[in-house]
Amino acid sequence: MKTIFSAILFTDAVIAIYLFLSPIWNRKKLDTANKALHLFALASAIWSFGFSMLFVQTDVEKAYFWRSFAILGTVMYMITVQFLICLFAHISKKMQYLFNIVALTGFIPYLLSIQRGQTEYFISSFGMTYRFMPGIVNTIYTTYFILVSVNIVGVIIHMIHSSDKKRMKAFGRHFLLITFPILIGTVLDMIFPAIGLPALPGSNVTQFWGLIILFYAMDVLNRTRVNVSNMSEFIYHSLAMPVLVFDDNYQLRIANEAASEFLSLPKDEDKLINYHIESLFNIDSHSIFNFDEPHFSRQDAQCLVNHFPCNLTVSKIKDSYGDLIGYIVNVQNLSERMRYIEELKKARQEADSSNSAKSQFLANMSHEIRTPMNAIIGFSELALQENPSPALTSYLEDIKLSSHNLMNLINDILDISKIESGKMTLVEVNYNTAELLHEIYEIIHTQTSKKGLDFQLKIETKLPRTLCGDANRLRSILINLLNNSVKYTASGFVKLEVLCSNPLKSPFMLKFRVSDSGIGIKKEEMPRLFEAFTQVDQTKNYGKEGTGLGLALVKGYCSLMNGSIRVESVYGEGSTFIATIEQVVVDSSPVDVNLIQSHQIKDDFSLGTLRVHDVDALIVDDNPINCKVISKSMEYYGMNVDVAASGSQAIAMCESKHYDLIFMDQMMPEMDGIEAMKRIRKLNDYYASSEHCKIIALTANAISGVRKELLAEGFDEYLSKPINFRNLEAILQKFLPQDALEYTKSDNKTAGTHSIDSAQTDSPSEAALSAMLPDVNIHDGITYCGGKIENYLEILQIMYQESQNQLITLNKHYESKDWKNFTILAHAMKGSCYNIGAKSLGDIAKALETAGKNEDISYISSVLQAFENEYRKLLQTFMNVFRKYNLTDESSPDTDTSNQVEAILTDFKKAVADYDFASATALLEKAHTAPDAGNYADLLNQLDILMDTLDIEQIISLIP
Ligand code: ADP
Repeated sequence: MKTIFSAILFTDAVIAIYLFLSPIWNRKKLDTANKALHLFALASAIWSFGFSMLFVQTDVEKAYFWRSFAILGTVMYMITVQFLICLFAHISKKMQYLFNIVALTGFIPYLLSIQRGQTEYFISSFGMTYRFMPGIVNTIYTTYFILVSVNIVGVIIHMIHSSDKKRMKAFGRHFLLITFPILIGTVLDMIFPAIGLPALPGSNVTQFWGLIILFYAMDVLNRTRVNVSNMSEFIYHSLAMPVLVFDDNYQLRIANEAASEFLSLPKDEDKLINYHIESLFNIDSHSIFNFDEPHFSRQDAQCLVNHFPCNLTVSKIKDSYGDLIGYIVNVQNLSERMRYIEELKKARQEADSSNSAKSQFLANMSHEIRTPMNAIIGFSELALQENPSPALTSYLEDIKLSSHNLMNLINDILDISKIESGKMTLVEVNYNTAELLHEIYEIIHTQTSKKGLDFQLKIETKLPRTLCGDANRLRSILINLLNNSVKYTASGFVKLEVLCSNPLKSPFMLKFRVSDSGIGIKKEEMPRLFEAFTQVDQTKNYGKEGTGLGLALVKGYCSLMNGSIRVESVYGEGSTFIATIEQVVVDSSPVDVNLIQSHQIKDDFSLGTLRVHDVDALIVDDNPINCKVISKSMEYYGMNVDVAASGSQAIAMCESKHYDLIFMDQMMPEMDGIEAMKRIRKLNDYYASSEHCKIIALTANAISGVRKELLAEGFDEYLSKPINFRNLEAILQKFLPQDALEYTKSDNKTAGTHSIDSAQTDSPSEAALSAMLPDVNIHDGITYCGGKIENYLEILQIMYQESQNQLITLNKHYESKDWKNFTILAHAMKGSCYNIGAKSLGDIAKALETAGKNEDISYISSVLQAFENEYRKLLQTFMNVFRKYNLTDESSPDTDTSNQVEAILTDFKKAVADYDFASATALLEKAHTAPDAGNYADLLNQLDILMDTLDIEQIISLIP
């Protein structure tokens, strides 16, 4: 029996010694807790070994020695357990000291109890044993063990209860597990001898199991404890982002929990080796792992497992020698982000399309409304000329006024929608500052005089005489601001100050201050002031007309001109609007301020008072109507005008004559305007760029940026069609020498300001024409055609004659799918329509031109017939005008109608010979409407009959 006991204890001792020494061959660095644990193993070893030796002794003296040795281990055991428990329990430092000191006092009862005579040794049935001699020493000894045991159990229970960490609670439970066997063992080998019974080796055995349990607990704790050396592993596994680790053979070795879940990977790390990056993502392993960047590379790929779009960040893993040992791949799931981006894109598209739909709708509506509005204005004017009764006159005046107001509103809405959609472009011209300010002065002065307000004008003396900028928009800014001031001021003054930056550079900031002594604006309402459709202070404004668009437009114009607008106001006292715009200086000599308020100025600066002399101009345009329109305008200014119908003709003409100005259509068949211009430039020094002749491009595509492009091609300037007379005059002033220019007194029949003699009802008037041509803006048309009604009517006649052929040719191009020439002709017809003020028809021609350019055959097929019908309808209304003013006879100016039928019939014969019956039919129809058709009535009727039976030979033989 004793040998069994002894052998068990000896084995325990050997294992404990092994555990004590294990850090030496594991080369582990130990922290305090682990050091204490290993000391604990040593204590257990001493305890077990001492008692294993005791039980086999027969000599009392030796037994005394081995027991003294053994209980040294026992006391050490108690001290280290106490220390470990205190360390882990996180009790206060003071308590730790107290408990540890109590434990350390164990050496005193130890020394006392090993005194001889305190223990009696004897041999029992299970070998050498002992019993305590009654007395204080053994009481102290027993008390010590009980005290420390109670301490330990107390601290453990405290730990289990109060620790907020699960692992510490688990650790506490392990401790409790040790304590119980030890306590039971202690009863056997400590309490038994204390009450006179022989000591049984109870705790000797159980303490070893305590050691084992504690080592196991510590191992678990060590593994779950985060320290600097293993922290990365914890971070890696705790990451919500999927992380994969590949070895240098590109084989998957580790996948964190997020990766396992995201890629449905097996939990068992051994199985991961079967996976490659190519089996997880649609990516080539070579391309993703071979990168030269020092730290990492990124690549987008689609996951083959769940089909999510991902971004992979690959970093190289290197050992302490810098050798590559693998790759770490962070997988970022982009599906959420992509969805978010898609949603943003969609929202943006929706916003854009609804915004552009709104702008488009407004623009379309404005155009649609303008056409009937012109008719209303025209007819009300016409009706007023019929000497109506006073009551009817008043109604008609109201209709006319309201129509004008409505027209202005429509124009404002159109402008606002253009500004909002970014389609508003500036039309920059050279303008005379005195002329512009005078115009404004005249308008506002009339209004202030009516209201009894004092209109003050203060202009900086160094304001340049000529500037370049969008004069029309500038006029709108000032009129809007000044109108408001007049509108919202009951008494006092309205003031306009014009200031310029100091020193004057070019471009420079032109500043306007418009102030008044009116009702003023509340502070809280100022931020909303420049929003469209905003009228502030409704109660005070009650009864004042307005739309709330004016300031929004002003703001839009200012920012288009790189400027700004702001307001200063004291409610009830008045307001000051300060606007700035950027302008270019053309002539920096100071303006004559006195002229602005003088009444003579009008004649000095009115549009159309400019005349030129000794100027030879060449107009190059394939469209005869355009040629006519432009040459009439040029002749009006006093130029000697030649026309060329094509680029090559223009070159030939330039070879034999020196022109001062050439107006070159940009878009012509065969040779376009750019090529013609370049060839003319090369003719001789006279035509070379920057030399005498100035070549001006004529273009109907006056979109932003076109000027820059044309100038870059080599043109000197450009002029948009239909021609704006202010722009034309600016060009003449810019390029012609001063001695070729002359300002005449206005003869009241100036370009763009034609006169209407409404008293003579027989002579054509704008109103009468408006009534007869409801789809045409007569005012614009007359303006574009040089300002004279006679010119306008002449242009209508030319258009009437040309258009028949143009319509036939357009159809021919359509039939033969010759989209290039179709586009060029549609472009020319667009120009003709715009020239005479037939804007809506011009818009259809424009749409056909665009469709031709894009070869949008389905659009052309659906629109061409309607266009032709509308065009013919328009031409028919021209006939009414011609009849009314007796213009159908052969004596009409510049219109040789004597052999028109003959000319048409020549074409007709050719068409029949070519079996082109569509053209032949159209030509025959045209011949019927020609002015000299009456002379050929019989022949035409005969041809009609022959066309029904398509008797070709007969037809050809009939035509000379
Ligand atoms: P409206 O057509 O109503 O005049 P605006 O955009 O020009 O539209 O002006 C917006 C509002 O700003 C006006 O309704 C008015 O309340 C206020 N406002 C503009 N100018 C003045 C001013 N000079 N004095 C007082 N209030 C003004």
